[in-house]
Amino acid sequence: MSEETLSFETEVGRILQIVANSLYSNKEIFLRELISNASDACDRLRYASITDQELVSDGSDYKVTITAHQESRTLSIEDNGIGMNREALIADLGTIARSGSSSFLEQLSGDQKKDVALIGQFGVGFYSVFMVSEKVEVVSRKAGESSGWQWKSDGAGEFTISETEKDSRGTKITLFLKEDAKEFLEQSRLKQIVTTYSDHISLPIELNTGEEVEVINKGSALWSRPRNEITNDQYTEFYRHISHAFDEPWMTLHWRAEGVMEYTGLIFVPNSRPYDLFTAERTHRVKLYVKRVYITDKCEELVPGWLRFLRGLIDSEDIPLNVSRELLQTNPLVSRIRKALISRVLAELEKKAEEDTESFDGFWLNFGAVIKEGIYEDPENRDKILKIARFRSTKGEGLCTLDEYVSRMKEGQDSIYYITGDSDEALTRSPQLEGFRSREIEVLLLTDPVDDFWLPAVGDWQGKDFKSATRGGTDFSEIEKKDSDTNSKSPGENISDEPSAEISSLISMIKLELGDAVKDVRISSRLTESPVCLIADEGDIDINLERILRQNQQIQEQVTRVLEINPKHPVITSLSGAIGEKGTGDRISEAAWLLLDQARILEGEPLPDPAAFSRRISVLMEASLPT
Ligand code: ADP
Ligand code: MG
Repeated sequence: MSEETLSFETEVGRILQIVANSLYSNKEIFLRELISNASDACDRLRYASITDQELVSDGSDYKVTITAHQESRTLSIEDNGIGMNREALIADLGTIARSGSSSFLEQLSGDQKKDVALIGQFGVGFYSVFMVSEKVEVVSRKAGESSGWQWKSDGAGEFTISETEKDSRGTKITLFLKEDAKEFLEQSRLKQIVTTYSDHISLPIELNTGEEVEVINKGSALWSRPRNEITNDQYTEFYRHISHAFDEPWMTLHWRAEGVMEYTGLIFVPNSRPYDLFTAERTHRVKLYVKRVYITDKCEELVPGWLRFLRGLIDSEDIPLNVSRELLQTNPLVSRIRKALISRVLAELEKKAEEDTESFDGFWLNFGAVIKEGIYEDPENRDKILKIARFRSTKGEGLCTLDEYVSRMKEGQDSIYYITGDSDEALTRSPQLEGFRSREIEVLLLTDPVDDFWLPAVGDWQGKDFKSATRGGTDFSEIEKKDSDTNSKSPGENISDEPSAEISSLISMIKLELGDAVKDVRISSRLTESPVCLIADEGDIDINLERILRQNQQIQEQVTRVLEINPKHPVITSLSGAIGEKGTGDRISEAAWLLLDQARILEGEPLPDPAAFSRRISVLMEASLPT
């Protein structure tokens, strides 16, 4: 059959361009990538053959063979895995098929030097072959099919496909090495690379030098070996292989459960945030094996969404091998493993938190926002999650625990105060905190969208309930009473004194003027510097939560808020002082709207009528400028 020429997908083109420029990076990783793919291909066939024995009628001794030809300067990597037909070759090798290379693209900075350096850590899956090859030829036959296909490319934008003879299933990749990549034909160099990166692969890897064929890896599943026989480097390489990741694991958990249930777990927590952590699917990446056979990476039931950053595998001895992927979701063994896995991970995290606070804080900044979903999704583990949870607060730079917060609470304070919003900076500026600050009451600063969802779901921590600082019903009087018992503040300082008659009538006038634009106008005990702020009425939805829901189009209506007024602020006192003078009514009407707009701006809300705001400001400026 004739040869077809096709172009790489644009994204692949970008990768290839960077690869071609990677003069000094870690070229040897191409072999790790190819062996990793070969091993995946064997895993996939092994699973498919459980239900279709025919697929492996020509044998099920899976292996990878590396062959070096000095004369032709070619290196080939061959496997007897699932293989690729024409469609698969085009889709898998011509587009950004899967994880590996697409996350590389996510990280690209556009700065060529930096991007090239990234390849060393990342590998870009199959495409890394072009770091060392002038030309690459892939010949593959899919298990169960009769014709073979050849794919060829020099990595410069196009590839060709043609039908070809292949007498066994699987894939053979031949690299026509560049002049300066001859080292990859040397036996010792190849052995060293395999030992460094691929020793954990559970298939035998053979090296064929023409004279002899030698198995150069251990060939047993890494997780089935005893812990003390595995080095940290081997764990790291295995982690990179199984999770298509490039960093180091932050935490490695390897255990064997015996007794009622028999299984092995090898679970990693990454050191950095994967790029797809917050997609809607919330899928985890823990693979399920049964007796060393790879079953699926889509067993949703195995790991809860709030631990979706975990990587690694569970290998069960008890689940029947031929169970369908659908039935797995309801298998009671799976849910029992899930339970055990959650407990292990949480216990280990708690230990880490005690042993190395700084490192744990780093972990929390990466994944805390995900774990916090568990607070409302998994009531059983709520307290354990709250125990390890870390928070920023108005006291100090670092992160604190709830216990630390509680131990610092003021006498008479019986709630844990928090404020939610987009960023720490915006939160620390918010007027609602003024009263807390002046009374030295600590407030937790929460900036993850999830915070608005778990807080209403959690009753209390050690008997202290959680209270939003942006809500009505905050009563400082208990704390102040206790405070004035111990401090010798002058009694007149207390802001919660009865308002004067002038202030009361000012409030009525503002309320009348603003009408439906606000729910109420009240005297504030939380403001010390700003004249006004908006708060959510007791029982109303929190301001930040409303914002999130509106951004996501989950609600349309805007909830009206309570405008709180600082009776000590000069603007307010002079307004109230002028009541009764001629023309004051109009001035107060204008001021009422300006005050409301000011509160909206402080809250980060858009103004419903910016033109009116601007007109009022101009009038004010004119009046105050010398004529
Ligand atoms: P990744 O391994 O992260 O998916 P790669 O670029 O390494 O990305 O490989 C792309 C795809 O090509 C694989 O997902 C797989 O479907 C296919 N592939 C690569 N090598 C082989 C192989 N030896 N046998 C079968 N399929 C393969
Ligand atoms: Mg790969």
